[in-house]
Amino acid sequence: MRKHSKEFLENLTPQQAYEILVEGNKRFVNNLNSDHDHLEVINQTRDGQYPFAVILSCMDSRTSVELIFDQGLGDLFSIRIAGNIVNDDIIASIEYAVKYVGSKLLVVLGHTECGAIKSAKKGVTDGHITGLLKRITPAISKAMLIDEEHKCNDKVAYANVENSLEEILHQSDIVREMFSTGQIGLVGGVYDIENGEVDFFKNLTKAKKEQKKLATI
Ligand SMILES: [Zn+2]
Repeated sequence: MRKHSKEFLENLTPQQAYEILVEGNKRFVNNLNSDHDHLEVINQTRDGQYPFAVILSCMDSRTSVELIFDQGLGDLFSIRIAGNIVNDDIIASIEYAVKYVGSKLLVVLGHTECGAIKSAKKGVTDGHITGLLKRITPAISKAMLIDEEHKCNDKVAYANVENSLEEILHQSDIVREMFSTGQIGLVGGVYDIENGEVDFFKNLTKAKKEQKKLATI
C-alpha cells in the first residue's frame, strides 16, 4: 500500500507506526538511509498529507527528526521548540495532528547535551528565555528519582520527556480520550547526539495494549 495515502494511515496501528520509527533509526545509525525520491514524494503528497506520527522535539540543529528516523516529506508532523516543552499552542498542534489528520503515534523526543536543559540547570534568566526554562525546572528535581538503567546518563533529558508526556495527557482531553481508546500511541525517547541512537524508554502504546489484553481475559 502506498505510504502517503488515506488507506495507509487508516490501516496503520500505533504499534506499527512506532516500529517504522525504530527501523528508521536503525537505518540512520547504520548509515543505510533509504533513497528518498523527493520529487516523487512531492507528487504523491500534493493533494493531501497523511503523516503517521507527530513528534515533539527540541529545536537543536543536531536533532532533525526526518533524518534521525530516515523519513521523508509527508511522513511526520514535526513540532520543534527549545527543550521540547509543552504549552497550549503545542498541545493544539498535537490535537490537530491526531484528531483531524489521523496520525497514529505521538512521540516526545528529548536529547542528550540539550542546551535548554543545561541553561535551566544553571538558572539562566533573560528575556523570554526565563519563561521557557521555567517549564524545564520540574524535570531537574524529578531526575533525582530516576534510576540508572538508561543508556545515556542524562537523567534530566529523560525526566523532561516524561514531564512533557504527562502534561500533554493531563491537559488534553482529546489526546487522553484517543489514547485510552487505543486510537493513538504515546512514546517517549531520548536521542543520543554521540551515536545517533534513540532510546525509546517509554512506550505507553505497548503498556496500553497489555492492559487491554488483560482486561479482556
Ligand atoms: Zn535541546
